[in-house]
Amino acid sequence: MTLDIVRAEDVRAAARLSANEGTHFLAGGTILVRVAKTGGFPVKRMILAEGLALDTVSVDGGKVEIGAAVTMTTIANDPRLVFLKRAAESIGGPAIRNMATVGGNLFARYPYGDFAVALLALDAEVVAEDVESSTTAPLASFLPDAPRQGVIVRSVRFAAPSASAFRFAKVTRKHPHGASVLSIAARLAEEHGTISGARVAYGAMSERPMRSTAVESALEGRPLDADTVAGAVNVATEGCSPQTDPQASAWYRMAVLPVHLRRLLSNEGKI
Ligand SMILES: Cc1cc2nc3c(=O)[nH]c(=O)nc-3n(C[C@H](O)[C@H](O)[C@H](O)COP(=O)(O)OP(=O)(O)OC[C@H]3O[C@@H](n4cnc5c(N)ncnc54)[C@H](O)[C@@H]3O)c2cc1C
Repeated sequence: MTLDIVRAEDVRAAARLSANEGTHFLAGGTILVRVAKTGGFPVKRMILAEGLALDTVSVDGGKVEIGAAVTMTTIANDPRLVFLKRAAESIGGPAIRNMATVGGNLFARYPYGDFAVALLALDAEVVAEDVESSTTAPLASFLPDAPRQGVIVRSVRFAAPSASAFRFAKVTRKHPHGASVLSIAARLAEEHGTISGARVAYGAMSERPMRSTAVESALEGRPLDADTVAGAVNVATEGCSPQTDPQASAWYRMAVLPVHLRRLLSNEGKI
């Protein structure tokens, strides 16, 4: 089968092209090129990201915007994004991180999507272009529908947390760069000694990266002490529906999530 590689004059034109069956946007290609070779879904044509100016990072007055084609290596090396270093460095090995992009991570299939987990806990919005207009939507509502034909992600944006308010952990069997048994990200900003605007997200605990609203509610408005952590851990698995794969069984994921959530909330170092 032949494969076309095309350029689009701008992101709108790329969205229009990607509305055609079998036409896909090529970011880092760490997933798409494999699929094209192995036939996971039909790939007849790829649209190149080059020239679409999707590879910039801006940090302005606490507001962060990361272009969809920014790589994990760029994020890990950007001192303005130090809170995302651990999440970016959890993805694959160095060669994968040099290619893997933020946009591609939003569409990665189970158990991948570790960077999307971090973005969920940051309450990120997705700026996307469809065939007719630009839209901005919360990542939490964008993810369940992704991928959609005729939609190109331009960027993700969010308010920068203070470095101490953001935590990320990934559990893997193959160290240091295996696929996720699970990942957890949490934004735990404190105001007057209590947690305000708690966000907790999981990877590999359902088909797509998910927020744990039960844990968020258990944390909200409380001091981050042993009692609060115990209350949050009690509801850790609410709403989870993990899968069994070569990394771990669904049972194992449910069994170990509370242990790792407790460690993350108690700030017991790298897990
Ligand atoms: C060996 C290996 C290890 C890996 N380890 C991890 C890991 O630990 N954690 C993890 O999360 N992932 C992992 N991955 C998966 C993958 O590398 C990452 O998820 C990466 O971020 C995907 O980005 P990409 O740019 O390579 O996507 P691509 O392969 O270019 O694209 C993937 C899909 O997303 C679509 N897409 C990409 N960008 C856009 C956009 N801007 N708008 C619309 N659609 C878009 C493409 O059309 C395609 O359908 C691994 C992959 C490999 C091969």
